[in-house]
Amino acid sequence: MRNAELFEIARRYMPGGVSSPVRAFKAVGGSPIVIERAKGSRIWDVEGNEYIDFLCSWGPLILGHAHPSVVEAVCEQATKGLSYGLTNLHEITLSQKVAQLVPSIEKVRFVSSGTEATMSAIRLARAYTKRKYIVKFDGCYHGHYDSLLVSGGSGVATFGIPGTEGVPEKMAELTIVLPYNSTQAVKEAFEKYGQDIACVIVEPVAGNMGVVIPDYEFLKALSEETRKYGALLIYDEVITGFRLSLGGAQEVFGIKPDITCLGKILGGGMPLGAYGGRQDIMSMIAPEGPVYQAGTLSGNPLSMVAGIKTLEELEKSNPYHSLENLTRKLTEGIGEILREKGIPHRINAVASMFTVFFTDGDVTDFQTAKKSDTQMFGRFFRALLDQGILIPPSQFEAWFLSTAHAQEDIDIALEKINKAVSSL
Ligand code: PMP
Repeated sequence: MRNAELFEIARRYMPGGVSSPVRAFKAVGGSPIVIERAKGSRIWDVEGNEYIDFLCSWGPLILGHAHPSVVEAVCEQATKGLSYGLTNLHEITLSQKVAQLVPSIEKVRFVSSGTEATMSAIRLARAYTKRKYIVKFDGCYHGHYDSLLVSGGSGVATFGIPGTEGVPEKMAELTIVLPYNSTQAVKEAFEKYGQDIACVIVEPVAGNMGVVIPDYEFLKALSEETRKYGALLIYDEVITGFRLSLGGAQEVFGIKPDITCLGKILGGGMPLGAYGGRQDIMSMIAPEGPVYQAGTLSGNPLSMVAGIKTLEELEKSNPYHSLENLTRKLTEGIGEILREKGIPHRINAVASMFTVFFTDGDVTDFQTAKKSDTQMFGRFFRALLDQGILIPPSQFEAWFLSTAHAQEDIDIALEKINKAVSSL
């Protein structure tokens, strides 16, 4: 069956035909593709069309699709049981590994998604500080938990308004929303509400308004202000963890948050999230402490072995330098193509993640990201898809490279992108 026919059936039985909204291609138009299989840097739809994949499942697949040693580990584990509901050997191995690799983590709790990680981290921060307000930044996404799915009003520091139906205003009002990269807004918010702020949660490099790079001063101010007022600093490293380096953004910037949220690469493509931090904070969690959080499938052995293998491969090959070089070749090539065609653009890139914005102004926060021509992005996305290049179906997301992407993939991709852009 063809993509469109199958998607019609999908629409009948799942809202929007999807299990997660952005997969419906609403932001870019056109019919979504339905995936059959993937290997390395390539992914195939049900019609047999092959794509070079720069979506990479939204970030987890730093080793590419179906990496042999990850697949082998998962298959072997599957024969020994899919879930035990009791502590297993692999949890112990992965928790040790995470504590060794991530500078701020002494103890870690495994959950099943990034959303669960951030949600639980917020509960923990509120319990630890005995305070109610949380601070987040406009354009950062931390999963779909009520308190975090809020947007800012107009103005510098605003109490959140529900980002979706179904979140009570009273809940959203406990979230203070500030512009990303605004050190001044952070200082003002702490001057005004500092005694009641439990925590600041931030993507240390933003990926969910497209890639936006933090000013070092901004990150430093978050660290200083939270410490000064006795609030906790939560780094949401669901994307950046093991993506920027083995120790994540906190290692790159040399700043230790109080709590770190992980996901994506940690599970190597299996469902997995985690939150971790200092011993005294983490010991607040049940059964050691009074903060309840639990999960039937938490610490699932399949996710554990996929995570362990992924991290082992990264430790063994330390691919970060070559991934960054390859990414630079791709972004420079795209920049050249767009410049030649006279298309205004900005490309924000860090390590092996980047976003192409269609604007002639620098993108430093959500306001400037929103200046990007999203109509143009939609045409760009569809032209790329027609050429066999898969990128995230939204302007406000990151492209990812994996160790399965070779120079040849980049050469072919640039050729195809050139053709696609010529057809716009
Ligand atoms: N935090 C960040 C920074 C994310 O990018 C995401 C998902 N894209 C989440 C949290 C939520 O993770 P999940 O989708 O696994 O719930």
